Amino acid sequence: MPELPRLRLGVSACLLGQPVRYDGGHKRDSFVADLLGTHFELLPLCPEVAIGLGVPRRPIRLVQTAAGLRVRGVHDPALDVTDALDGEAARVSRDLPDLCGYVLKKNSPSCGMARVKTYTEAGMPNGRASGAYAAGLMARQALLPVEEEGRLNDPPLRENFIERVFAYARWQALTASEV
Ligand code: SF4
Repeated sequence: MPELPRLRLGVSACLLGQPVRYDGGHKRDSFVADLLGTHFELLPLCPEVAIGLGVPRRPIRLVQTAAGLRVRGVHDPALDVTDALDGEAARVSRDLPDLCGYVLKKNSPSCGMARVKTYTEAGMPNGRASGAYAAGLMARQALLPVEEEGRLNDPPLRENFIERVFAYARWQALTASEV
């Protein structure tokens, strides 16, 4: 019997062991890379590399400003990649319509799904928010199942994510067949 194609998930590339972090390291997650990788096609995506920041690179963080939430260099406030990260979220949303879910790296000012630390312009911690790329992705694809690797260690959250991925894939197939 021919093998059915595996559903495709976007994954923060550092979770799959790619050395794309600002310091040249990775954050390989064995549940994501090994277990999810057995059942799904995992597509590694690093928005910071995609917008040309390079590896290694200067660290960035979320900053609350009078103009709203921005992503700026920790040591170089003139570096502002907010719009570039949002543009990358738009590109992925447009060019990868076959993704059935996305596993994001927690605490990243780009990829973090929620609860990423924000700072004042003076550098004081002042709250939590989604990373800029993740926010752009979720705003454009409100139905796309999204989770963070840390939360997938929780069995009910993991089961819920997998169920949402299959439901989303069925919905995608249904809407495609109606065109
Ligand atoms: S968290 Fe996202 S932006 Fe940061 S290294 Fe991983 S994939 Fe790249």
